[in-house]
Amino acid sequence: MTLFTGPAADCRLCPRLVEYRRANQAAFPDWHNAPVDSFGSLDARILFIGLAPGVRGANRTGRPFTGDYAGDLLYSSLLKYGLARGEYRADPDDGFELVGARICNAVRCVPPENKPLPSEFKACLPFLSQELAAMPSLRALFAIGRNAHEVALTTLGLKKSAYPFAHGAMHELGKGLILVDSYHCSRYNTNTGRLTEAMFHQALETLLDSIKS
Ligand code: SF4
Repeated sequence: MTLFTGPAADCRLCPRLVEYRRANQAAFPDWHNAPVDSFGSLDARILFIGLAPGVRGANRTGRPFTGDYAGDLLYSSLLKYGLARGEYRADPDDGFELVGARICNAVRCVPPENKPLPSEFKACLPFLSQELAAMPSLRALFAIGRNAHEVALTTLGLKKSAYPFAHGAMHELGKGLILVDSYHCSRYNTNTGRLTEAMFHQALETLLDSIKS
């Protein structure tokens, strides 16, 4: 098993994101404003993959999906299905824990307008690859959004055309690993009705049913 430590706090592989981090550091010196480490144990069976930190969410708090609407839906859902314990209070010091699950982002620094560039996905991809290699019990990936789905496939060297993204779809990737897709649990998607809480729960149920045995 390989050791995984994630990117350095001052990772400079993406010039645009480094510049944005600096601007946020100047404007909000109390915020995290650095690559956001994954949350949860490397011994987890499930890896949830998001897009990137939100500027006032994980980029502020330093924990994935913490401090913005997407985290409210994600973490309440993980609690419902026994994949977390404690009380989520949108604060990394809340003592909230994941159970058999880990959460990362495809791009680990906050991008302007929540939109990473293709070059930024590519630059950050080796960290996901190293993370997967360091998870000996990994059975399932849960892609939170189409971008996460595509990054997961690219990381594993699999063809996107063979595994089309669809909300609630389950893909068998070989070697006992599965991938389940969901629309991103963003406020925009829930406000527009693209994703309801029931739909998100249905995708999580597909995930859990798929790794029951
Ligand atoms: Fe480094 Fe990833 Fe941040 Fe780019 S997004 S600067 S590769 S940690």
